[in-house]
Amino acid sequence: MAIASNIETVLSELNTNTRLVAISKTRTEAEILEAYHAGQRLFGENKIQELVPKHNQLPKDIEWHMIGHLQTNKVKYIASFIHLIHSVDSLGLYIEIDKQARKMNRVIDCLLQVHIAQEETKFGLNEQELQDLISSPNFLAIENVRVVGLMGMASLTDNEEHIRSEFRYLAKLFNKLKTNQFKDNLYFKELSMGMSSDYKIAMEEGSTLIRVGSKIFGERVYPTER
Ligand SMILES: *Cc1c(COP(=O)(O)O)cnc(C)c1O
Repeated sequence: MAIASNIETVLSELNTNTRLVAISKTRTEAEILEAYHAGQRLFGENKIQELVPKHNQLPKDIEWHMIGHLQTNKVKYIASFIHLIHSVDSLGLYIEIDKQARKMNRVIDCLLQVHIAQEETKFGLNEQELQDLISSPNFLAIENVRVVGLMGMASLTDNEEHIRSEFRYLAKLFNKLKTNQFKDNLYFKELSMGMSSDYKIAMEEGSTLIRVGSKIFGERVYPTER
C-alpha cells in the first residue's frame, strides 16, 4: 500500500514536462509489481544481473532504464529490450551500444552522463570530454544509437543552493548543446536529474526525468554508488 501512495505523492508533484522513473534496484519483483499496479511503467536499474531477470519476469509493457555504470561487455544482455541508457560516458561504450543495437536491428536511446558533483568519481564526463566525444568522427558515424539528452547526479550534501547550482550548470550545458551540436536532432530533449532527496530542485531547474527510488520503495540497505 505504501508504495502506491508514495507514487501518487511523487506524481502529484511532477511538472507537466517531467516523467518519473521509479528506481527499483535491490527491490523484489513483488514490490515492483505493486508500483506497476499503481500505474507506474518506467523503472530504472543499475546492475545488469538484476535488470535482465526482472525484465524476463515482469510485464512486457514496462520501459526499462539503465541508470548505473555499464561495462562494455554487458551491453549485449540488454540490447534487445532496453528503453533508455542514462549512463553513457565513453566513446567505447557508445560504439559497443551501436554494434549491439545493429545486431538487434534497432536504435537504442542514450543519455550522456555528465559529472556535475564535487565528489571524486570515475563516472561521468566533464564538459571538455563531452565536447571531444561528440565531435569525434567515430561518434558522428554512428547510426544505431540516438543521443536524447544528458544525465547527472548532484553532490551528496544538505546544501540546497549547492545542489541547485549543479543542476543549473547541467541544464545550461544541455541548452547549449541543443542550440549547437544537437540543433538538428529533434530527439535531444531529455534532462535526467533529481533523486529522492533533490528531485524538487531538479524539476525547478528543468529536469524531464527524475529518478526516484527510496522515496517510493523505502530506504535501501545499500547506498547509491557514486
Ligand atoms: C539509486 C539511484 C537513484 C535513486 O536514488 P534514491 O535516493 O533512492 O532516490 C537515482 N539515480 C541513480 C544513478 C542511482 O544509482
